[in-house]
Amino acid sequence: MDGIIPEQDYKERYIASEERFRTIFSLTSAATKIIDESLTIIKVNKALTDLLGYGEQEICGKKILDFACAEYIDSWKALQYKMWSGGEPFFRLDACLKNKNGALVWVHVTTIIFSDGDKRFAYTVLDDFTYMKSFHESEKRLNMSLQYSRMAVFDMDTLDGNLTYSEGLREILGLAENEIRLDRGTLLDCFIPDDKVELEGLLTALSSNSSLEFTGRVNTPNGELKWVHLQGRLDDLGISPRLLATAQDITKEKKAERYKDDFISIASHELRTPMTILSGTLQLLERNKPAELPRVSGLIGQANKSMRKINTLIEDLLHASKMSEGQLHLHKTAFNISRAVEECCADIDTKGFHKIIFEGDNNLELFADPERIQQVLINFVGNAIKYAPDQENIKIKAVEDVISISVSDSGPGIDADKVGHLFDRYYRVDSDGSQYSGIGLGLYISAEIIKKHGGKIGVSSELGKGSEFWFSLPKTLPEEIEQG
Ligand code: ADP
Repeated sequence: MDGIIPEQDYKERYIASEERFRTIFSLTSAATKIIDESLTIIKVNKALTDLLGYGEQEICGKKILDFACAEYIDSWKALQYKMWSGGEPFFRLDACLKNKNGALVWVHVTTIIFSDGDKRFAYTVLDDFTYMKSFHESEKRLNMSLQYSRMAVFDMDTLDGNLTYSEGLREILGLAENEIRLDRGTLLDCFIPDDKVELEGLLTALSSNSSLEFTGRVNTPNGELKWVHLQGRLDDLGISPRLLATAQDITKEKKAERYKDDFISIASHELRTPMTILSGTLQLLERNKPAELPRVSGLIGQANKSMRKINTLIEDLLHASKMSEGQLHLHKTAFNISRAVEECCADIDTKGFHKIIFEGDNNLELFADPERIQQVLINFVGNAIKYAPDQENIKIKAVEDVISISVSDSGPGIDADKVGHLFDRYYRVDSDGSQYSGIGLGLYISAEIIKKHGGKIGVSSELGKGSEFWFSLPKTLPEEIEQG
């Protein structure tokens, strides 16, 4: 009887395999059902009742298409027909079902036909990918909204330089679709040499939780320059520190800014000549004002005062546009700071009330552009008078060890979250308020002057207590002063 299995053994093996199938069917986490030839569901597992939210009794006896969303019924039916009519042994499709709560459930469907005795059945696995589907859709929506705002996001591993990025990054960086994958090196290479060096420095200097703020120019395939703004933060919560950042194409904004600058520059240039003539005429009148006509003398005085204000405004506009084009040229020389303070403060209108007090070393020498440094001081002191009108004493301090000069007042102070913008072009804390006149250029110009000297500028301020505006310049050795 060698090689022949007794009938009793077959039976036992069959029962055992049936048992195994039943166990797998009920325990598998994939939603599963068995249907008969009339497509009626005859058996479901727990995963399927969980997926649809109906009990076993509510599902068995029905057809799966009773739970399908309308737009999938025809294609599903066609596949069923093909399989049952002997065309295919199985079929696959992605479809959408509606569960008991009315929520949509996305499933990968695999149905395979099998026979048991003389009857045919089909076994279906419904693999839920609703989570993936909504994830992909939200990713798609995010990509679309990023695209509309000409923005992209990226995540850079700062150790190996690998980059994960959203769809629009390549386009923003002016890269063609088929070019190599982006990483730290290729990202840097997109920028023109000067900007690349600056970005590389910023990326290397990133430390725990520090942030990145950078605007640079990239070359596009058609030879045009694009402006790209990168903004991000270093996150070192994971295994390796990652830079999470956004990239935005700001070319349009830069162009608009450029047109505005060009207009301001041309307009202030054109205004300058007639203003100089007008100014000269008014000064002449001031010198020869008729003593016998006090009203006329008063009017001449007022006209001169307004003329000085207009001149300052035009000078500020001209300086600001020159600086934005990087056209600030310094004429450095050695000079005594206390004398420079005295000289420039003599021109400041103290309204007969404010006292400008110089504290510090009277012999302190600076090697810088005296006219520009005086311009910064005039702006600081002018602001102290403007924004702290009730404060009599305005102090100017000069500290030798770092050559730091500050102007302090006990005026209204500045909100901490606005301080970071004070040196931006056209920024005004109270931009809507009409209490104080101004156009928000003084501190921007001051910052550009100090930056050009290689120095630092800042403010410490407390709301309601006052402000101290300061700048510091790199210390120059006496022999350099002599050479200068
Ligand atoms: P402007 O005075 O023409 O507005 P600035 O660039 O000189 O332009 O100053 C920018 C802003 O900084 C001002 O609008 C003001 O809100 C704020 N500010 C400057 N100096 C002071 C100060 N001493 N106290 C309070 N706020 C100040």
